[in-house]
Amino acid sequence: MTVQLKNRLASELADLRSSGLLLHPRVLDAANRARTTVDGREVVNLASNNYLGFADHPALKAKAAAYLEQWGAGAGAVRTIAGTLRIHEDFEEQLAAFKHAGSALVLQSGFTTNQGVLGTLLREGDLVVSDELNHASIIDGLRLTKATRKVFKHADSADLDRVLRDHPTDGLRLVVTDGVFSMDGDIAPLGELVRVAREHGAITYVDDAHGSGVLGEAGRGTVHHFGLQDADDVIQVGTLSKAWGVVGGYAAGPRDLRELLINRARPYLFSTAHPPAVVGALSAALDLVQSDPSFMERLWANTRFFKAELQTLGFDLMGSQTPITPVLFGEASTAFEASRALFHEGIFAVGLGFPTVPRGQARIRNIVTAEHTRHDLEQALAAYAKVGRALGVI
Ligand SMILES: *Cc1c(COP(=O)(O)O)cnc(C)c1O
Repeated sequence: MTVQLKNRLASELADLRSSGLLLHPRVLDAANRARTTVDGREVVNLASNNYLGFADHPALKAKAAAYLEQWGAGAGAVRTIAGTLRIHEDFEEQLAAFKHAGSALVLQSGFTTNQGVLGTLLREGDLVVSDELNHASIIDGLRLTKATRKVFKHADSADLDRVLRDHPTDGLRLVVTDGVFSMDGDIAPLGELVRVAREHGAITYVDDAHGSGVLGEAGRGTVHHFGLQDADDVIQVGTLSKAWGVVGGYAAGPRDLRELLINRARPYLFSTAHPPAVVGALSAALDLVQSDPSFMERLWANTRFFKAELQTLGFDLMGSQTPITPVLFGEASTAFEASRALFHEGIFAVGLGFPTVPRGQARIRNIVTAEHTRHDLEQALAAYAKVGRALGVI
């Protein structure tokens, strides 16, 4: 290593270490299930985004294996050259129908979807107004555009109204929001945001990463939850890696949106298509959620139970409305200590502090899934009671 490189790496890492931000991701020694093994210890897993328990579901694995066998291990090229297999197109039609959209396009991930779609849609002279708590991939996607970028206060339609009024433009006007916010578990007030956007001639762009598979009939997502599925001024993007259990991102909207993205979205043009096994697993996921309502029923029954019990114990759940269940600890050091103590009790739940969440609002984020049993949740609650009391939080 050159001295320069060596110094650069050492000084960056030293900075992270001294500010307590150096990450040491825990390692799962088994599949991502409600009960799994992490760093050699058997735990109840409250840290995943595997809402429906699909990540290790036999139906997904079976169709993944069938597609792997028939269509191969890799797609062989980017979509626009020779990487579009019939199964990619079929899955996009299945997804568009599920979302009630004119079309859907699948990209490598939710992250690249925001880069590709925002980068394609917005130009100089446009205005984009983004919720202050939007996901990092939206922030990065917006950095790629020459549009004027403004922020509105979290979930605040009056503030959105103010920002739109203060920034008249002849260009496209786009309001961007997460459907469900990943750190707080609250649902965007989409009805109000769309109404305000309309008053100003703006389009609404919803990143539904944490809403799809969780909200709306058969998990169709936040847009359906608000009855806006047929609105032609709402574009949905999302991920296939949370409730759908696999990997990928998508944009769902009018046919011309898909056509333009095929021609302009850089992750679509310059990064290889999903392998067949991914497509098979995802297709099985959409079939399963529509044919068997019990996944979503269990997800919500578990969510209601876990939240009510945590509240009875005296924890502050920060107003969450979804299976994302933040438990407030305040100081980052307390949240991290609680996470370690819970792990010692066999509960895997990750502490989040600044800069992921605001200072003084450090928390442990739990995500309840359809796969947790009552026994799993009771074990977690007993551990929370013990750790919360030991740390003086309840
Ligand atoms: C997780 C998440 C993403 C990223 O999705 P991946 O498929 O994991 O890349 C994008 N947007 C939001 C709102 C998310 O929560």
